[in-house]
Amino acid sequence: MGDGTRTTRTRRSWIQEERRRTLGDWVAFCLGCGFTVRYFAERENELPSPCPQCGGEVRRRCPACGARIASAFAVECEECDAALRPTELFGGRIRKRDR
Ligand SMILES: [Zn+2]
Ligand SMILES: [Zn+2]
Repeated sequence: MGDGTRTTRTRRSWIQEERRRTLGDWVAFCLGCGFTVRYFAERENELPSPCPQCGGEVRRRCPACGARIASAFAVECEECDAALRPTELFGGRIRKRDR
C-alpha cells in the first residue's frame, strides 16, 4: 500500500505523539532506577531531582551536548549519539554478580 510518504523522519508511534501532547514534549529519567517523567520545556524546572523513588540522578538532557531527550526509551542522544543512560539498565542485564 502506498504509505511510504509518511515515514519521513518519524520513528515515533501515534501513542507517543499523543503522550507528547498531553504529558509533555520531553522526557527525563532516573539513572538509578529508570523512573521516567515527561515534561514540557517551560516546566523543566519543576522536574523532580533527585529521583523521588531512589534518590538517584534524574537526567533530563544529554550529558554531552545538552540536547533534550524526546523518547522515554532513548539510550542514545538523537543529536550526538552519546549514551544517555547505562545500557545495562535497559538491556536486561541487571544481575548481581557473585564474587
Ligand atoms: Zn530512581
Ligand atoms: Zn547529545
